[in-house]
Amino acid sequence: MKIAALLLDWYDKNARDLPWRRDKDPYKIWVSEIMLQQTRVEAVKDYYERWIARFPTPGELARASEQEVLTYWQGLGYYSRARNLLAGVREVCADYGGSMPEEKEQVRALPGVGDYTAGAILSIAYNRRVPAVDGNVLRIFSRLFCLEEDILKAPAKRAVYRLVQEQIDRDRPGDFNQALMDLGAMICVPQRPRCPECPVRELCLAYERGVQEVLPVRSPKKAPAKVRLAAALLEQDGRYLICQRPAAGLLAGMWEFPSVELKDALPEADQLRNWLQSVFLLEVRVMEAEKQLIHTFSHRQWHMTFYRCRLLSAAPELPDKARWFSLNDGDRLPWAGPHHNVAVALRGNKE
Ligand code: SF4
Repeated sequence: MKIAALLLDWYDKNARDLPWRRDKDPYKIWVSEIMLQQTRVEAVKDYYERWIARFPTPGELARASEQEVLTYWQGLGYYSRARNLLAGVREVCADYGGSMPEEKEQVRALPGVGDYTAGAILSIAYNRRVPAVDGNVLRIFSRLFCLEEDILKAPAKRAVYRLVQEQIDRDRPGDFNQALMDLGAMICVPQRPRCPECPVRELCLAYERGVQEVLPVRSPKKAPAKVRLAAALLEQDGRYLICQRPAAGLLAGMWEFPSVELKDALPEADQLRNWLQSVFLLEVRVMEAEKQLIHTFSHRQWHMTFYRCRLLSAAPELPDKARWFSLNDGDRLPWAGPHHNVAVALRGNKE
């Protein structure tokens, strides 16, 4: 029997019941696939349901403001995904009358849509024979065919893409791709694959040779760069000073407590005080450290200390992109990841 037949037979009995599988709406598949990048299925389910309740169609999403969209994405991280989704949906509304195009080049040209997402949308929504190769599929195929090249490098990725193209089912390409997603999530998992339960075990070269635990070959990732930050918790009349991050770059456009990257040998409190003075013209005393957090992104790791600060003189007019903000209104703004946790904790302390 071929890989596709075994896989689909298993899928018919074991497919996961996921909210985005209840219909074949390409917009919903698009939303779920973007949310699932870098995020676990269990964590995505609630976000997905809330999102679809608020933005049930491309038109509803296209009309929403970026700030509202980011608020609905709050907590999922990698916010450029939400911005790209919004830009892509606006393009679909402007150029395709609100219906997802059916040609791979057109789908692939939408902001934030890579080969994998295009393959998932086209195969599931339109039954097109297009592979959807992500980390799961790379892992499964490198084991099935005992590929010993570095799976993160382009030649191995191209080899896997070609193999999937050969194996993908003619009649049910969407189910074939989804079966691979489920196999990667439940059976052919990264550590200790459950080979005895695997539907394609009899065709798996890695299993036959007993090397399934050492595949795929992967070059070690670089550790994220450590960045030290001091952040100010400055309160006036029950409101905190917050500011908006620049429109481009990490956590672009999100809101946070003012924070400075620590660079020189001065004590942290002095650096924070000097920075608040130079940027906001604020005279403050930096008091005790309230909270310390470590937050890891793909390429950097923030080591943050949040300091209570006290105003020493009347605050001047704030620059653009800064404001005094009541934490009771906290969920109306898209917060930059770790700052949201601190805002929630501060609000909790007051209740
Ligand atoms: S037999 Fe094992 S290694 Fe091979 S595909 Fe199945 S789970 Fe993965």
